[in-house]
Amino acid sequence: MTARSPAAASRRPTAGRSARVAPERASLPSGAGEGAGLYVHVPFCSAICPYCDFAVSVGAAPRREAFVRDLLREIALWREWREPFDTVYLGGGTPSILGAGQLGRLLDAVRSHLPVRDDARIFLEANPEDVAHEAVSAWRRLGVHTLSLGVQSFDDRELRFLGRRHDAAHAQGAVRECVAAGFDTMSLDLIFGLPDQSADTLRASLDTAVALGPDHVSCYQLTVHEGTAFGRRRARGRLVEMPEDEQAARYALIHQVLARGGWRAYEVSNFARAPRHRSRHNMKYWRHLPYLGLGPSAHSFDGARRWWNHRGIEAYRAALDRDERPVAGSERLTREELALEALMFGMRTTEGIDLRDFRRRFGVDIAARNRRFVGDCLESGLLERAGDRLKPSTAGLAVADTLAARLEL
Ligand code: SF4
Repeated sequence: MTARSPAAASRRPTAGRSARVAPERASLPSGAGEGAGLYVHVPFCSAICPYCDFAVSVGAAPRREAFVRDLLREIALWREWREPFDTVYLGGGTPSILGAGQLGRLLDAVRSHLPVRDDARIFLEANPEDVAHEAVSAWRRLGVHTLSLGVQSFDDRELRFLGRRHDAAHAQGAVRECVAAGFDTMSLDLIFGLPDQSADTLRASLDTAVALGPDHVSCYQLTVHEGTAFGRRRARGRLVEMPEDEQAARYALIHQVLARGGWRAYEVSNFARAPRHRSRHNMKYWRHLPYLGLGPSAHSFDGARRWWNHRGIEAYRAALDRDERPVAGSERLTREELALEALMFGMRTTEGIDLRDFRRRFGVDIAARNRRFVGDCLESGLLERAGDRLKPSTAGLAVADTLAARLEL
């Protein structure tokens, strides 16, 4: 849909940095044991958006059905997974492109082969074009708690630029239908930072979102990736990205409008109306908790090792035909790499870094090691201290990656 793949967590952030973290294996974070996350990647969309760099393709009905059967085989191959799941996230791609019967078979298989808790939260990503009264009722009957709608904008011109198949009127109707259906959490995604997006059109989209009353809003900055249609347009000089200072101004505007409407940021791109609407699933990635990813390109993490599936559906299927898990590669993260990831994730969430837990896991007192820098950031208001936690403020979230990069281990 937009930007939530755990694949982002596989960056290796240590290059060129000095660290005092001993090389032995790190212990798990304090939240370990609260449940693992299960991610299921559905790699089909009705058309490919020009900015998309996910593993997706346009799949007609027979391809989709063949894929569901592949996924059922992969689920069965993970019967030995022991860590109970308290979240099941159907993402993509566009999982709502599958029929309710297919989604039901996947969820049944997940529940019968894997240790899914009775109180696990089920997440489903959907595109407005797939929202219809019958489909929404079926998703509710399947036990979906959180519905995440890929709206991206309520401006027709921006939607056309983004290559989306819905228009603003349809998006509004879809959000209303989903809000009325009574999901525990109704979430919508917006994209900001389009090359010529004015503050006014962004404000209008945000105002519309606020008026529609979702429980959760994700606002992702448009990223132009090489190899995408936008990347090729940029290479030919036909697409110029929004300058950084304007991006920062748009980001500040998002916080301003959403905070006024009652949505508080809890992560760089994510806003919730109340703590219970925060994404329990995405928290797994940010808290360094275990997750299992199924489907092409999906990534998994067990606390120390990360592995990923084949990206192409043919290679993915060929492994399953051999009765093998379709894993393409893996890496064991060093204690230093884990520590740097924990810093990076911590600075991107309002939970920040639990200094005591960080010291227990990695043997480094971050506040003491960075006394001057942390002091300056506390004084300038980029960081805040609450007991054992060092947290980015709203202004700090805007420069989260820079803060993480400046903290020494
Ligand atoms: S809806 Fe568009 S951006 Fe989202 S996964 Fe499909 S092609 Fe990519």
